[in-house]
Amino acid sequence: MNYYSLNKKAPNVSFKDAVIKGLAPDKGLYFPESITPLAKEFFNHIEYFTNNEIAYEVIKQFVGDEIPEKELKKIIAETLVFDFPVVEIEKNISTLELFHGPTMAFKDVGARFMARCFGYFNKDKNSAKVTVLVATSGDTGGAVASGFLGVEGIDVVILYPSGKVSEVQEKQLTSLGKNIKALEVDGTFDDCQAMVKTAFLDTEITSVKNLTSANSINVARWLPQMFYFFIAYKQLQNKRRKVVFSIPSGNFGNICAGIMAQQLGLPVKQFIAATNINDIVPNYLETGVYTPKPSQQTISNAMDVGDPSNFVRIQEIYKNDDTLLKQHLTSYSFTDKETKKAMVKINKKSGYIADPHGAVGYLGLKKYFKKKKAQGIFLETAHPVKFLDVVEPVLNTTIEFPPQIQEVINKKKVSVKISNYEELKQFLLKP
Ligand SMILES: *Cc1c(COP(=O)(O)O)cnc(C)c1O
Repeated sequence: MNYYSLNKKAPNVSFKDAVIKGLAPDKGLYFPESITPLAKEFFNHIEYFTNNEIAYEVIKQFVGDEIPEKELKKIIAETLVFDFPVVEIEKNISTLELFHGPTMAFKDVGARFMARCFGYFNKDKNSAKVTVLVATSGDTGGAVASGFLGVEGIDVVILYPSGKVSEVQEKQLTSLGKNIKALEVDGTFDDCQAMVKTAFLDTEITSVKNLTSANSINVARWLPQMFYFFIAYKQLQNKRRKVVFSIPSGNFGNICAGIMAQQLGLPVKQFIAATNINDIVPNYLETGVYTPKPSQQTISNAMDVGDPSNFVRIQEIYKNDDTLLKQHLTSYSFTDKETKKAMVKINKKSGYIADPHGAVGYLGLKKYFKKKKAQGIFLETAHPVKFLDVVEPVLNTTIEFPPQIQEVINKKKVSVKISNYEELKQFLLKP
């Protein structure tokens, strides 16, 4: 399988090169040259497949022969080491819980798959070490740290803004040791990201270090996110009734993977992109004009994105035809006030504790149902324990630490404090 750049000014590359490069040299996102729907038979018998078998069927055309079947199956088995339950919370509304992984956010799936692809491609060459350099506002850092922990030939350097991630998130990225290094930046997330970008362009660094990024535009993080849409479908009692998925969206990678799953034949009636007040896409669907804006801070902070990078992939799937796009994609935005109200309502009605991101997804379904009825699933993208400072006061409750959080919360934080680019550079150049 080959991948082309959406900016169309760079050569096509193999899966391997798309994974290693991340972004094309013309700064375009990579996109697969073809998408072949899966056989009807597969969907008719999906209950008889294990999650690992489903994932293999789903991903194999996108990897092609660049990872042998046996190795790819091993990568999948090491990726899907937790459950993806669909939990009914009220009539016609269920949630797909994506938070049972090691860092309790859906990003575990993409990060684990990507880390193992890197591990496989790197083993091949028995060559120079690769340094994964990544900036995080919270969830990405933990998932990447956990995903790459112990992967041979790879060093991971994570930049995070000091004092601006939750305690749980900080522990997840500073306490693992081994090949994971955390740099605590005296600044904001935007400062971290700017430093990372500068490093990628700094030839004094790139001439001696193989730098790569682990952000969500990488095809090896994006595509495996299709898996759990199929795993959710497998669990549906009534497969004749088409399903509506509502996805709390920031960079639009998760929802774009869902739309890819539909392209492979998954019977989905509609996708709802539910956002917070960072409403670039809902705005676009209404006005036809795409206007990026600086991101605004909200209680669903993993979705505070002012220029969602994966939206161009969704446009590509629908061949840049807005009419077609709007037939499949609905998008609504919600305020923090509405989100908190929804968290309370869900909890009162069913006893369920939704995190702020999941609550935005729930609101998306509710709004859609005012026009049409269907069976709806919203994605719970993170465990509420990751957003304790919001969830506990809003619901007036305390949340117990699940085992994977308990395990890191008492570990020692180890970070290196930096406050400017020069310090990052010195750190990277240190032998
Ligand atoms: C990253 C993240 C999102 C946003 O996902 P995108 O793929 O960027 O749209 C939503 N919720 C949580 C909890 C996240 O960590």
